[in-house]
Amino acid sequence: MVQAPVVINGIAAIRKEIQTRRGSKQLRVGLVPTMGALHEGHLSLARQAKEHCDLTVVSIFVNPTQFAPGEDLAKYPRTLEKDLAMLEAIGVDLVFHPGSEEMYPAGCSTTVVPPSLATLLEGEFRTTHFAGVCTIVLKLLNAVQPDVAYFGQKDFQQAAVIKTMVADLNVAVEVEVCPIVRDDDGLALSSRNRYLSDEQRAIALSLNRTLQHVADEIGGGETDGHLLMAEMRQRLIDAGVTSVDYAAICDPVTLTVLDEVAKPAVALIACHVGETRLIDNLLIH
Ligand code: AMP
Repeated sequence: MVQAPVVINGIAAIRKEIQTRRGSKQLRVGLVPTMGALHEGHLSLARQAKEHCDLTVVSIFVNPTQFAPGEDLAKYPRTLEKDLAMLEAIGVDLVFHPGSEEMYPAGCSTTVVPPSLATLLEGEFRTTHFAGVCTIVLKLLNAVQPDVAYFGQKDFQQAAVIKTMVADLNVAVEVEVCPIVRDDDGLALSSRNRYLSDEQRAIALSLNRTLQHVADEIGGGETDGHLLMAEMRQRLIDAGVTSVDYAAICDPVTLTVLDEVAKPAVALIACHVGETRLIDNLLIH
């Protein structure tokens, strides 16, 4: 029989619960950090954790420090009851659901300075975002002390930033990056898709189509990075996106833009459809 996950709000309490369950056993503990409003993308990470770990912990925390003023923190969807039902259905053991005052008590002022690759791409448009992400992820890793933490390729740069932080700061955790889960029409699942009207959703399909197109072009022998990036941008604009933050083809490790696409690459897009900011990417081998 599937049991409802145990929901824990405090750092001391989650540590104690995991310590008790570990006992003298060599349990492999997996953590899936999320901001809730769960969908199949998040659940795919939790399923990976279930498959490869003895104890699966999902954290749900809408992290205020990774939102800049004017971004969608206040209206970010919060759907805890539904999230818990989804996690129960796949047999997640523990849900860590701290409040803001637990993660950022008064007087808490230490933050992580993210690695240099955080200044590229997203970092050019969301200058404080990765400092907030690195700080909360390190705090969650310290609270839960998992053996492995699961992240989605959907946030390609975020996964790269976290892997680098974990290596640079000698954090004792394995980082697993899981593939992007898409709707049948190709739109990458995102908690923010619910903001889109039907018309905007149709426009949003251009992200995946543009990525597929650029992969085909590269597969067909085109190597001029700047030509390909200009074409990506134009395709998005022609499809009706409101504005393009970046449409880039980069080295998948350093995330530097490729002038000449002659090796494994990643194509990445960030753009606005109406007020909604969407990101997507595709690894090109
Ligand atoms: P979020 O709740 O948006 O912070 O996402 C939590 C985790 O789920 C991150 O590691 C994301 O990369 C991952 N994720 C979000 N959407 C998807 C998706 N469509 N496919 C795979 N992973 C995803």
